[in-house]
Amino acid sequence: MSAAPHELGVADASRLLAAGALSSVELTQELLARIDVHAALRAFLAVDAPGALKSARAADARRAAGLATPLTGVPIAHKDIFVTRALPSTAGSRMLEGYVSPFDATVVARLGDGEAGGAPGAGMVTLGKLNCDEFAMGSGSENSAFGAVRNPWDRERVPGGSSGGSAAAVAARLVPAATATDTGGSIRQPAGFTGTTGIKPTYGVCSRYGMIAFASSLDQAGVIARSAEDCALVLSAMGGFDARDSTSAERPPQDFHAQMLAPRAAASAGRPLAGLRIGLPREFFPAALAPDVGDALRAALAELEKLGAALVDVSLPRTELAIPVYYIIAPAEASSNLSRFDGVRYGHRTVRDGDLRDMVRRSRAEGFGAEVRRRIMIGTYVLSHGYYDAYFVQALKLRRMIADDFQACFRRCDLIAGPVAPSVAWRIGEQADDPVKAYLADIFTLPASLAGLPGMSVPAGFGAHAMPVGLQLIGDYFGEATLLQAAHALQQATDFHRRRPA
Ligand code: GLN
Repeated sequence: MSAAPHELGVADASRLLAAGALSSVELTQELLARIDVHAALRAFLAVDAPGALKSARAADARRAAGLATPLTGVPIAHKDIFVTRALPSTAGSRMLEGYVSPFDATVVARLGDGEAGGAPGAGMVTLGKLNCDEFAMGSGSENSAFGAVRNPWDRERVPGGSSGGSAAAVAARLVPAATATDTGGSIRQPAGFTGTTGIKPTYGVCSRYGMIAFASSLDQAGVIARSAEDCALVLSAMGGFDARDSTSAERPPQDFHAQMLAPRAAASAGRPLAGLRIGLPREFFPAALAPDVGDALRAALAELEKLGAALVDVSLPRTELAIPVYYIIAPAEASSNLSRFDGVRYGHRTVRDGDLRDMVRRSRAEGFGAEVRRRIMIGTYVLSHGYYDAYFVQALKLRRMIADDFQACFRRCDLIAGPVAPSVAWRIGEQADDPVKAYLADIFTLPASLAGLPGMSVPAGFGAHAMPVGLQLIGDYFGEATLLQAAHALQQATDFHRRRPA
């Protein structure tokens, strides 16, 4: 075997496990040791060594008995926004410190042991739970109540957020793939900041059952891994209809990996993307775009052209409006979702004396961090009588127009490309004094979230301070296969996704 086990991605690990060249126990042991060595990254909030080794032994036995799926025995870790029975689930908040769920999120069950009374799971080995911004609110994973996650490319910089623990763990080779969630960019942006590959599918592809809610009409689960191929393998196992999520899309199970590998109708030798039209919204390439980001993107787009894709100019005229629209709708839904944390049923309860009102008020003030409190206040304000029509209803109308703008683009192209973020990862603390700065940096990821469209971040090179730059690809509804095909073709022709931090 050439590569050290921790260097293996999902597909490579799967091949070696199937060939009997590696056992899940060996792989799991090595990764557990690495997680220990790299504890200073603060990527993990909880590690389950005994549980992981037990699942690894069971996976090896299943392999030996010929009962394995491609993912059986491959390690995974979950963003701490997915509830799990075996480990506490905190959502990065003091409010839920020590909370243990009585059930597994659907995504967790499907990747692991399977749903109670349902089909068997993929048999992946859960190593632990990953740090994130509190209730997934943030863009740098600095808002975690348990300390900021560090970017393995430069430990003084953020790994992006809110799925920063997922991205940092994958980039640092602590785990081959991790689950993540994206409400306004939290899969794509941390993937972009860490040189990893991330996919947020169409809203409704992955079940939200057991995913701690931030903004329910936007929240969507996905994967961060090292390649499009690895993302496709994991997404196929975690997605699909779930009767327990009322917004789950009723579609047959998808094999994204097979779809990704199926040649396109117009493909020819060396031109796997022939016939693919990639739209470049002019608003995604403003004159003010950082030159290092622009240069990396242009090189990646030239590569896609060589692979046969045609680049076409399109427009998303309401791109800038996505910021105020999102920062009204997401806090509004958050203020409603987070009202369940009242110190009565579960979560933190103050120890100070007082009546019921004092108890609820103090429990919430002590349990929630500053960013979460800020969002609850904004959300409550825009939903209140007198402001509801002026802010919330206006935002809903603009959201529809933003979605329509995408549909107008997709009449002229099959995919949309642009930056993931306006810059490379910033230094930890750099934006602490001004939350609005971080909100503005979400400009390129928010539009697809508001429209419910699938999106990816694909490593596209390096920019300032030798930090990774991500190329964002956005697909039409249920266009995951096209997204993955383009990303996979690019990764067959480039090696940015194989580079790793020193
Ligand atoms: N950065 C955005 C926010 O702070 C998006 C977060 C997310 O996708 N969870 O809300």
